[in-house]
Amino acid sequence: MAEKVCPICGMTESRFKATMYLGCPDCYKNLNVKEVIMSCQGASVHIGRKAFKRDTPEIAMLRAEYQNAVRFGRMDDAERLKGMILARGGRP
Ligand SMILES: [Zn+2]
Repeated sequence: MAEKVCPICGMTESRFKATMYLGCPDCYKNLNVKEVIMSCQGASVHIGRKAFKRDTPEIAMLRAEYQNAVRFGRMDDAERLKGMILARGGRP
């Protein structure tokens, strides 16, 4: 499978997998964010194992989005995502 690259910021799926940070708001739709996170579950090398042990892929995905929202100063989105993470029993 060819690796997807975000045309906006140049973020690649493998880099996202290693850092769990998106490069720009468009990465979310340009990369297979969900698939990358799902595949990390099996590998769980680069990211905090503790966090991923308890977290569902959904929470992990929400957290990645949350961190991205914080990073880009989208505080409304951040608050909404934080609520969604907490509602699912995760920690933002
Ligand atoms: Zn991007």
